[in-house]
Amino acid sequence: GADCIHLDVMDGSFVPNISFGPLMVETVRRLTSLPLDVHLMIVQPDRYVEAFAAAGATSITVQAEACLHLHRQIAQIHDLGLRAAVALNPATPLAAIEEVVTDLDMVLIMTVNPGFGGQSFISQSLSKVRRTRDLFERCGSAADLQVDGGISAANIAEVARAGANVFVAGSSVFTKARTVEASMRMLRQALAADTA
Ligand code: ZN
Repeated sequence: GADCIHLDVMDGSFVPNISFGPLMVETVRRLTSLPLDVHLMIVQPDRYVEAFAAAGATSITVQAEACLHLHRQIAQIHDLGLRAAVALNPATPLAAIEEVVTDLDMVLIMTVNPGFGGQSFISQSLSKVRRTRDLFERCGSAADLQVDGGISAANIAEVARAGANVFVAGSSVFTKARTVEASMRMLRQALAADTA
């Protein structure tokens, strides 16, 4: 029931955890025709975007905090023919992307601190989502506004109202309480009920 697969790459340096690298992306690429949205929570992402592009990524998201030359980083991703996105940690101001916003296909507002699954949504991030939507409108940007961290049926509608249109869900989808399909239905129903 998903529109795309979001893959969290962690290097044990930018975030405490280590998850997986391009090999896993390559494996997932063989298993689905859905777009692969690769979120690099790693230092020096410029050293690896080529490998993730070759592995089959559709879009690559880099963390603004991990890039010394964000503008060049975005160009590198575009040169590989991929969609480019930038993620902002909860403590990183929106101003970090203001100068490059018109170059971006998507902005990811982290609604938890990256690095672990199962964290709860940081409620201050709602205002940041709103301000990001405002920035898009001011700049005439048609980019997607993605949220990642603690998204569930309980808050997805509120986050959508704040201006997000792409929702990453991990713990609320992969739960012992129900099947993945049932979880996806719950999320979509929570969204639809709100816009109805
Ligand atoms: Zn992510």
